[in-house]
Amino acid sequence: GPPGSSTSIRQVKLDKECELRVEVSPDSPLRLRLLTGSAEIFGTEIAPEIWLTFPPRLKFAVFTWYGATIEMDGTTETDYTADETPMISYVNVHAVLDARRHRAKASPSDSDASQGPRVIVVGPTDSGKSTLSRMLLSWAAKQGWKPTFVDLDIGQGSITIPGCIAATPIELPIDPVEGIPLDMPLVYFHGHVTPSVNVDLYKVLVKELAQILERQFTGNVESRAAGMVINTMGWIEGVGYELLLHAIDTFNATVVLVLGQEKLWSMLRDVLKNKANVDVVKLQKSGGVVSRNAKVRQKARAYRIREYFYGLANDLSPHSNIASFSDLFIYRVGGGPQAPRSALPAGAEPAADPTRLIPVSVNQDLLHLVLAVSFAKEPDEIISSNVAGFIWITDINFESKKITYLAPSAGNLPGKYLIMGSLTCLLMFCDS
Ligand code: ATP
Repeated sequence: GPPGSSTSIRQVKLDKECELRVEVSPDSPLRLRLLTGSAEIFGTEIAPEIWLTFPPRLKFAVFTWYGATIEMDGTTETDYTADETPMISYVNVHAVLDARRHRAKASPSDSDASQGPRVIVVGPTDSGKSTLSRMLLSWAAKQGWKPTFVDLDIGQGSITIPGCIAATPIELPIDPVEGIPLDMPLVYFHGHVTPSVNVDLYKVLVKELAQILERQFTGNVESRAAGMVINTMGWIEGVGYELLLHAIDTFNATVVLVLGQEKLWSMLRDVLKNKANVDVVKLQKSGGVVSRNAKVRQKARAYRIREYFYGLANDLSPHSNIASFSDLFIYRVGGGPQAPRSALPAGAEPAADPTRLIPVSVNQDLLHLVLAVSFAKEPDEIISSNVAGFIWITDINFESKKITYLAPSAGNLPGKYLIMGSLTCLLMFCDS
């Protein structure tokens, strides 16, 4: 293997405030356990002695505050120890947030003061935004808070499949292997892996999600005091920057954490300087963050979709269902003229309405598409409704007018209306 990779059972001694950075090999899992001392993986403490099994390709770090010995069994792409990390500055941020949560908890009847910190993590691609979000959530959960995790990254989100924005309460430190628990996420479907395909729709969905959370917070002092941690996309130029400002504004963020870019920090500090209750904080990027190129990202998305249907370790068995063309009500959002030409002043071109709903009849292009199952009761509720889950169209028979699709479980779909975008499930991208 490449330098730094190894295969045998081996032990690594970590000094205080050091971390072991690991990239698991692409073809086999890695077993790892804590032998002595204490250590955590992205904010979640690991139990002594117990072997943890990490799936192929996973990239993570085992960090220790006071020193630890780690044992590994299996192949890695790379593993090395680092003694320079930004962990102290990250945990200092956690301490400030923790104090604010206590303050919020102490005044449950004051609608402003009872609101805990609303943290938004921003920065360029591969600056470690998801990882920092995860640490802040796990540290908070360890102390008994139940913060809400909001993931606005529709390209590489960590709550559900790509093409979505989502939120979920975090009640326990996040499992280093399994990731975010999928018990009760609130998911909105955009349908594309970049918002640029339909920026207005992205903004509408961000607004819907924020409104629902606002409503939930009103009735729940505990989650209100714990606040939220919002992860964002790495798109920070032009429209991407506008979308960051839109998110900061829509969620009423009170703490903006800027990772790894001085310019973005100074721009945000300038535009937000008149908002007395918003802190814009610059944080160093960790040297352990692994850069991912377009191909790696595409692969990661394909794995994520496969994981939804088959499980992380192929431990789920999705159900194959057959439906008649006439039983499916499929819509796509956006495109097409907003108003008939006759209704416009002479010479004016009809603009495309980005949030218009367009019914779709079954056609060959639906093959391999991943559709969202909406909770909407009526078509005009589709845009403002969250989704229950996803199906994957695996076969279309135009003679018998039947569609075969895969769903996580058997039985009726939890909703009648299906939304399509450009999201596909192509397992070939999962092969190396
Ligand atoms: P995106 O560009 O998708 O927004 P991001 O800024 O959210 O990315 P992360 O997803 O947090 O970046 O990190 C990228 C990768 O680096 C992930 O696979 C993560 O597990 C890994 N990583 C982050 N920090 C470390 C570390 N200290 N040691 C080893 N791997 C790390």
